[in-house]
Amino acid sequence: MNLSELLLSLKDCPCGREHKFCVETVEIGRGLTASAGRLLKSAGFPSKILLVADENTLRASGGLRQSLAAFGFEVRERIYPNLLYARIEDAEELRVLCRDAGGVLAVGSGSICDLCRLAAHRENKAFAIYATAPSMDGFASDSSPVIANGFKLTLPAKQPELILADTEVLASAPAELKAAGFGDMAAKYTALADWRMACALTGEYYCPKIAELVLQGLDKVMSMADRLRQNDAEAAGCVMEGLVMSGLAMALAGSSRPASGAEHVLSHFWECKKLQQGRWVEFHGKKTGIASVIIAGLYRRLALFPDVETHEDRTDWEAVRRAYGGGLADEMMKMNRPTVTDEIDPAVLKEKWPELRRIIMETLPEEKALRRLLRRAGAAVEPHEANIDAELLESGLKYHPYMRHRVLLTRLLPMMDFKE
Ligand SMILES: [Zn+2]
Ligand SMILES: [Zn+2]
Repeated sequence: MNLSELLLSLKDCPCGREHKFCVETVEIGRGLTASAGRLLKSAGFPSKILLVADENTLRASGGLRQSLAAFGFEVRERIYPNLLYARIEDAEELRVLCRDAGGVLAVGSGSICDLCRLAAHRENKAFAIYATAPSMDGFASDSSPVIANGFKLTLPAKQPELILADTEVLASAPAELKAAGFGDMAAKYTALADWRMACALTGEYYCPKIAELVLQGLDKVMSMADRLRQNDAEAAGCVMEGLVMSGLAMALAGSSRPASGAEHVLSHFWECKKLQQGRWVEFHGKKTGIASVIIAGLYRRLALFPDVETHEDRTDWEAVRRAYGGGLADEMMKMNRPTVTDEIDPAVLKEKWPELRRIIMETLPEEKALRRLLRRAGAAVEPHEANIDAELLESGLKYHPYMRHRVLLTRLLPMMDFKE
């Protein structure tokens, strides 16, 4: 990816903000593994590094160690057996391990990158990613979702200076991980819709150029749906680019708005409830893909109503607390003092409804079309595929928006009555 060209295209942006990020190099290419050492070296990455992987991602990165050795890197390793969760304890361990190294190299995708990102941030070390699967949108992120005491926290972390990916390795990644990345891209439809609606309703910051960058990547990824199930290096590379672009877009916008809307919050609700019950949370992109189908379907059904009656927020707070339960309820309430609808005038919501409807119709594909796309890519579509039962589905749909202090159409529903 040509990052300087990207930044140049955003110079003097009409949104009025100066756009920048810390990522210096993104190289996604066929057979890149053999040149990984050279790329790190020429980028000035420190020669003493801590390499973090699990047995699966280390196997996938065959040839990487040799390439690092050939370019004189002194490598210490921490190889986990099979890392499915990013737990704060592991990040703390990595902090200690990386202290005498100059930089941290994460070899993997979601959880491994999240742990390394946090450790590198807290120890102020250089940080690079060698991605092994195009599975989620967090590669370029500057925050880490980690589990602490059974809760999922999002902590400030470090953006990588370099992101490297070999498209042949990406294409050979497990089908479920590639499908999850596709699902996480599909989630950008609803994310962008929520962002535009929030801007229309409250004047919240929105940058059309950043939205356009995400959308371009999204369109390209969707056009590759049929090829993702095959061992197709170009398609896997394209998903990776779309995911990295989404992460860069978040950094450029200074918020997760360009890549995350109600569908991400819904997925987060499922995840927290599953953690509470000690169940496997499922891959991030698998859940966000399923959630985007649900949210797109809901929004398009709402948009069929030409008019809406509005009133003060009629949230039943006792019911909300019950749905979260335990310590999760206290965490949730922190996001609601004050709650986001306090700043929304029902009369303005009514007045803006035609514009919100138009945004939905313009930006969201029909639920059926979205389902078809996900299916063609081999991605999950139905809640039960991520072990979400009817009860979790219903409570999630109703109560997810309370997890964030953010304007989402789903959060406004207790202020709205729809009529023919
Ligand atoms: Zn802008
Ligand atoms: Zn995501």
